[in-house]
Amino acid sequence: MIDSTLKTANILIVDDQQANIDVLTGLLDVKGFTNYTTTKDSRQVISLFEKFKPDLLLLDLSMPYFTGFQVMTQLKDIIPASTYFPILVLTADITPESKQKALTGGASDFLTKPFDLIEVDTRIKNLLKTRYLHQQLENQNQILEEKVMERTKELVKTNIELIAAKEQAEKMNRLKSNFLANMSHELRTPLNGINGFADFLRQDLKDPELKFMAESIFVNGNRLSETLNLIMDLSKLESDKMAFTHKPIDLVNQTVEFISLFKEAAKRKGLYLKSSFSQPSIVLNTDEQVFRSIINNLINNAIKFTNKGGVTADISLKDNFVEIKVADSGIGISKEYYGTIFEELRQVSEGYNRNFEGSGLGLNITKKLVEKLGGEIAIDSEPGKGSTFTVRLPVTITGEKAEGKKVIDRAAPNVLTEQKPVRPVALLVDDDPFIYQVLRRYLAGQIDLESTAEGDLAVILCAKKHYDYIFMDINLNKGMDGKQTTEVIRKIKGYEGIPIIATTAYTMAGDKEEFLSAGCSHYLSKPFKQQDVLNLLENILSVKETAY
Ligand code: ADP
Repeated sequence: MIDSTLKTANILIVDDQQANIDVLTGLLDVKGFTNYTTTKDSRQVISLFEKFKPDLLLLDLSMPYFTGFQVMTQLKDIIPASTYFPILVLTADITPESKQKALTGGASDFLTKPFDLIEVDTRIKNLLKTRYLHQQLENQNQILEEKVMERTKELVKTNIELIAAKEQAEKMNRLKSNFLANMSHELRTPLNGINGFADFLRQDLKDPELKFMAESIFVNGNRLSETLNLIMDLSKLESDKMAFTHKPIDLVNQTVEFISLFKEAAKRKGLYLKSSFSQPSIVLNTDEQVFRSIINNLINNAIKFTNKGGVTADISLKDNFVEIKVADSGIGISKEYYGTIFEELRQVSEGYNRNFEGSGLGLNITKKLVEKLGGEIAIDSEPGKGSTFTVRLPVTITGEKAEGKKVIDRAAPNVLTEQKPVRPVALLVDDDPFIYQVLRRYLAGQIDLESTAEGDLAVILCAKKHYDYIFMDINLNKGMDGKQTTEVIRKIKGYEGIPIIATTAYTMAGDKEEFLSAGCSHYLSKPFKQQDVLNLLENILSVKETAY
């Protein structure tokens, strides 16, 4: 601190003796102090204090009107406790009691008359220095406090903004989920009609040109369904809304059954499609739907990227994991692309002159799904020779029985018709007239189908007549929805255990569980293929058989 700062400090001298005042002001003059004022009247101290704003008070103790002690008491009332205001008591009263009383009454220092002027000068400087440092500290504290206040205000503002942003994000997320659910519903429902009728036409039409057209609609419609499924899967994975339902499933059954769905696609390209298993039954505690998605994506790709030879799916049980290998003799992938192909939207052949169609989502989703099941996926490939994708899934439960299923011989014709001498009758509850036409033809010769568009009518029909199966759409235009209708039908005598299959285009996370909890026993997502319906019905029958 520079001396000049001290020299401009305001000093107030209070003494009833002019001689003392003269000595002190003389000293201050000599030492270069420029701002001082004096009074002999102790009653003036308070008003001078407010006007002159002293930095130091040189105070006598024995004075008429107010003693120095009383002055200090008065000052205590107007000086905030946090402010350091130095008072140097200069007195002829040399008793230790007075000194003690002065120091406890507010004096910072105490000197007895006659003064040693060097000592007075030193004390004055020290007290002013301390006062100056205190003021500095106070200023810093104030700056700090202001900064803290400012920062707190900013934080409160940021917090409010964050809460608003979070609420907005949650709202957007809800809107997005809603939008996805609606889009899913709106796209799947018409696809069911398109794919279903195209399927019949391509089988029934004789004219080669028309047959080709129907075939094209069928293939493209299915491609659209596949892409839709991938996008839905991705959105569920991204929003962490994919619900996993683990249960013991027999991978051998599942794969045999599943591979049969690709037989036709392989045949069209002149490819073989084989499967082999390390043992007759490999049970894994896993999510059936996710396992199917994984194997679906791998076999789909294998067929797509293979033009001669074929595709093999091998499943083997190792010590603590199950290994699924899907190998093809197709175009292969060079090593530099091993990483890229697992990235979202990436393909080996990209850009306008890409050689293969596709969204570039399949492998990315497959990898994410495999990882969600705690497994890993690897690729081994050679351009021109073929590729092998290997998935390893950890075995968590062994020795469990897969849920009441038996191996179904896919070659056996008309399994359904062989189950009952009298043809079973099913009721379709759906307000989309196309679904009836499609489902009727899918079930032709195996199950008779009746239909109604309204839940209330469905209840009346069920009360009058016995149906062996009920296909229940969830979103019905009029009256009760599918869930409410199911709940009422379940209460009708004889319908407690009848299969009620939720046939719906609502396929978001949790939808299936919601329909099952409403009383539906099975779930079939739209758009469904004939094979999906037959598989499901066979499933129902085989469970019944094992139950008998
Ligand atoms: P999509 O097949 O829709 O393009 P994927 O994510 O399933 O998307 O595959 C990404 C890319 O990986 C494909 O475009 C292809 O270049 C390559 N690929 C995937 N599977 C195979 C395979 N079995 N043989 C050769 N290339 C493949």
